[in-house]
Amino acid sequence: MELKELYRDVILDHNRSPRNFGRLEPADAQAAGHNPLCGDKLNLTLRLQGDRVQDLRFEGQGCAISTASASLMTEAVKGRSREQIARLYKEVHALLTASTEVPSADLGKLMALAGVAEFPARVKCASLCWHTLNAALERAPAPVSTE
Ligand code: ZN
Repeated sequence: MELKELYRDVILDHNRSPRNFGRLEPADAQAAGHNPLCGDKLNLTLRLQGDRVQDLRFEGQGCAISTASASLMTEAVKGRSREQIARLYKEVHALLTASTEVPSADLGKLMALAGVAEFPARVKCASLCWHTLNAALERAPAPVSTE
């Protein structure tokens, strides 16, 4: 199977059966995102444990790319620290804007978004969930340090 077909299948699969879809209640942080260019809407709820995103869910309505990207993102960031998420976001952003051919980190299934770089109009669809995640984390109470 060609890599492109594999990527397409991952996108289709995550659009058809999005992972971590729904809403966490109670949540430690949340944010809403909107991509007016396409009409994608996203609501993200997070549960935090110290510096880590312990759990997260998303809901909303959007195109296949925005839904698949949000689904892939929730899988990729669950259990990760803020710093790890910031690094991951950098890599994904570079992938989406094709500013790098080969990502320096192992992006796993997020590599399926590589094809989006060929369609500049869809980049915002794929990055909406990441912007929303950043907004939620910025708004979240800072972790208490005991050091
Ligand atoms: Zn879209």
